[in-house]
Amino acid sequence: MISRSGPLFGVEKGGALELPYEPWWQEGLFFSCIGCGRCCRGEPGSVWLSPGELEAVAEYLGMESEAFRKGFVVERRGRMSLRERPNWDCVMYQGESARCGIYSVRPLQCRLFPFWPSILRTRRGWVERSSECPGMDRGRFWSAEEIAALLAKSPFPDL
Ligand code: SF4
Repeated sequence: MISRSGPLFGVEKGGALELPYEPWWQEGLFFSCIGCGRCCRGEPGSVWLSPGELEAVAEYLGMESEAFRKGFVVERRGRMSLRERPNWDCVMYQGESARCGIYSVRPLQCRLFPFWPSILRTRRGWVERSSECPGMDRGRFWSAEEIAALLAKSPFPDL
């Protein structure tokens, strides 16, 4: 169930997602990632690590958490984010294979894209982002209930 009375995005109370806006996506949306990697490279951006993700990625890479943090993580706005290369590619993006190097343990932020609170708040936000992501508005159908469930998982209300 989705209601409109809540003060925050993606907050679930008693099984209901409360939103501060009328969800324009009530009829559902289409999205299937085609693995082009455009969202992983070429532009400045933050890839926030949720609690426990730094350790999970470090373990996947066979590194000590502290060594991983020093080498691959920066602090931004009080949160940990994966570093970018000088060309703005995510440090985990593998140019040779055009794939994410930590795909199976990628951060929740990446798993939830494009069903982020900031993108879903307005139809315009979705349309603008879809001009950069060829997977949006095509492929799998996502119902309003599925979208609400993804919104409720958002690790940060300002994502
Ligand atoms: S830009 Fe869209 S289609 Fe391309 S990798 Fe990212 S999510 Fe997938």
